[in-house]
Amino acid sequence: VSFGYEDIAPEDKTRRVGEVFSNVASKYDLMNDAMSGGMHRLWKDRFVRRVKPRAGEHILDMAGGTGDIAFRMAESGAAITVADINPEMLSVGVERAAQRGIDGLVWTEANAETLQFPDRFFDAYTIAFGIRNVTDIPKALREAHRVLKRGGRFFVLEFSTTQWPGFAEIYDAYSHKLVPKLGKLLAQDEDSYRYLIESIRRFPDMPSFERMIAEAGFQQTKVEPLLGGLVAIHSGWKI
Ligand code: SAM
Repeated sequence: VSFGYEDIAPEDKTRRVGEVFSNVASKYDLMNDAMSGGMHRLWKDRFVRRVKPRAGEHILDMAGGTGDIAFRMAESGAAITVADINPEMLSVGVERAAQRGIDGLVWTEANAETLQFPDRFFDAYTIAFGIRNVTDIPKALREAHRVLKRGGRFFVLEFSTTQWPGFAEIYDAYSHKLVPKLGKLLAQDEDSYRYLIESIRRFPDMPSFERMIAEAGFQQTKVEPLLGGLVAIHSGWKI
């Protein structure tokens, strides 16, 4: 199966990403725990501490999926909009919110490349493990910039490239051999997890992605590597 970036047309990538997340939606949360040994919870906690949501703010959680980031931010009393291109992921999220008694979130279907929101509407924009799946990343970054107010904050949580010697090789072997097997075992879906790993491998490294964020107009850009950069928190301001 080829899920490459270069060798498929943009509309095909968007469609295939759609299929991947429709396939994994019901097993998404289980698989996150299995693949990261529960660590994704800590990365998400850290991410939301950096965002520092406050009551009264409007925050857009783009590619919000099943709600992990939104649920953490909702505790602050901020008004949160969860947007995602995939209705199956959103419906799992809506169900989880009901189970947890979290109400007041707005759930909406949206493509990060073409947002329906007005200019300068949000105080903060978050996207966790979502940007690498977007077909036209520069376009999504420009849209993020457009919908933020002046003084608005922009945050990305995403897999990157670890700088720790030795660790990269171990991770590479783990991800290419074990993750698709886990996908097969737990979600009966090897190909989707092969895509997810491949999309991580192809994502730009930390300095390149930081430049892309700056090119979209963000200032005071920053990157905080976790586990040597296996995962990274990128941020910037709209000034
Ligand atoms: N943010 C959630 C989390 O951290 O658990 C979900 C992350 S999940 C790995 C990636 C999400 O990105 C999926 O729900 C997928 O549907 C969404 N996605 C992919 N391409 C998108 C696009 N162009 N616009 C909006 N969402 C997109």
